[in-house]
Amino acid sequence: MISIVIPCYNEEEVLPQLFARLGAAAETWGEEYEVLLVDDGSRDATWRLILEQHARDERWRGISFARNFGHQTAISAGIHYARGDAVILMDADLQDPPEQLHRFIAEWKDGNEVVYAIRATRKENLLKRAAYKSFYRILRSLASIEIPLDSGDFCLMDRKVVDVLKAMPERNRFVRGLRSWAGFRQAGLEYNRDARAAGEVKYTFRKLIKLALDGVVSFSTTPLRLATYLGFAVSFFALLGAAVTILQRIFVDWFTRIGFPYVPGFYALFTGMLFLGGVQLICLGIIGEYLGRIFDEVKGRPLWTIRETAGLEKDTV
Ligand code: UDP
Ligand code: MG
Repeated sequence: MISIVIPCYNEEEVLPQLFARLGAAAETWGEEYEVLLVDDGSRDATWRLILEQHARDERWRGISFARNFGHQTAISAGIHYARGDAVILMDADLQDPPEQLHRFIAEWKDGNEVVYAIRATRKENLLKRAAYKSFYRILRSLASIEIPLDSGDFCLMDRKVVDVLKAMPERNRFVRGLRSWAGFRQAGLEYNRDARAAGEVKYTFRKLIKLALDGVVSFSTTPLRLATYLGFAVSFFALLGAAVTILQRIFVDWFTRIGFPYVPGFYALFTGMLFLGGVQLICLGIIGEYLGRIFDEVKGRPLWTIRETAGLEKDTV
């Protein structure tokens, strides 16, 4: 069976189209399927529409959050309750075309455990496209794992991968990163991202910033190391300053001629300040290193992920 998880936040305008298009596409797969609609605390008719759809077709199921928890949490809840052998994640707004899903299923049947979508083209404004492009490139350069460029949450995951995601207790979830982290055989499929079929964008600027921060902070300790790097740089200048101060005392005349007359105590004070600043930054960096370790422990991700075993009892793994 295939589960399709769809987070919906105030999506009353697109839901009828989604029901029609996804339903029509799903009938062509020749597979058993369920659709799990997660209403992320909508204030419009979203939940009523989901209930109506469920009444029409039992395979469409719904979860209604008591308030808005955000897209990533809604996806995580969907993954939690999905029963399929494969789980598809897609947006409600039809930017991820349901007509493409048969390609994902074909790749899955070919033995790929994660099939993720790469956005070849987007139909958003220039600024937003540029922001997305640079974000994925910055994240890739900072992250400690390989995160594919320009791929969002639109994907298909095998049950094995879904179980790994469910075993991760971390709370600030960046699902596309966790999906890469899990490993397994992953394949990327290019598609053209459509414009939203109806309604307004639900991802506010604030939510996008939060998502970007979650991505960087959950998969990189580089920002914590910044203090160390800065500390060493500042200390280096302090040492340079100390050398200059000593030379200045020895070659007073020459320094006066080039415009650096000897001012008692000034350079020594300045150098001391720089040096202390450097030492403090390095100490902050050391604390940062430990903080990074603590953060890693607290995230409590599994130490390894297993695709298959030979000769081990299933329930001992
Ligand atoms: N969404 C959600 N909770 C939120 C914001 C968005 O569940 O707090 C859902 C929304 O209904 C849609 C998907 O997340 O199905 C993507 O949102 P949107 O299309 O507004 O964002 P974008 O296309 O810009 O990523
Ligand atoms: Mg969208």
